Amino acid sequence: MPTFSSLLLDRDGTLIKDKHYLADPDGVELLPGVGESLASLARQGLRFFLVSNQSGVGRKIFSYKSVLACNERLAVLLAAYGVRFADMLFCPHAPADGCFCRKPAAGMWKILERRYGLNAEDCCMIGDKEEDMRFAAHAALAGRILVLTGKGLSVAARLGIPSSSVSEVSKFVPESPGHPQLIISDFTLLERGLILLRQEDEA
Ligand SMILES: [Mg+2]
Ligand SMILES: [Zn+2]
Repeated sequence: MPTFSSLLLDRDGTLIKDKHYLADPDGVELLPGVGESLASLARQGLRFFLVSNQSGVGRKIFSYKSVLACNERLAVLLAAYGVRFADMLFCPHAPADGCFCRKPAAGMWKILERRYGLNAEDCCMIGDKEEDMRFAAHAALAGRILVLTGKGLSVAARLGIPSSSVSEVSKFVPESPGHPQLIISDFTLLERGLILLRQEDEA
């Protein structure tokens, strides 16, 4: 059983298909394995927290309410698997706002840490972008996993992670805060990845 107690999860490109400034809840589509793997982890007692950048609000591309509607749709889709979020946070600001909560800044972690008494040593971040990895590094979370859905594949290429190592589950010693410790091709491999990550820690 994975020894993390909480997972911090990116939304677009990680849990659901990345549709570039998604504003319509009908467009929310779970990625392969997301419902099943989170259900299995929920049965083992893990808690889930959404941490999402939604700069479309700050850029006036869509409304705050449309983000809430999409998050609610996501919650409904996952509830069908018996999965619920302990909390769903998002940053509504544009990059130029210089807020404290837009990933890679650790603001959303600070909120969760205070609100739920989370311990960074028990937490793992999963996302499809370098910002997600940097967020995890800034928050000093014990784990950070890059998933190769959404932007993940191009991020791995940009980080110089060789394509021979980006199939299935691969673990790394991260070269920088933008690097993941582990890569999974999709959520069907999440549980295996979490176990592998902890084995590495304990070795
Ligand atoms: Mg994403
Ligand atoms: Zn913000």
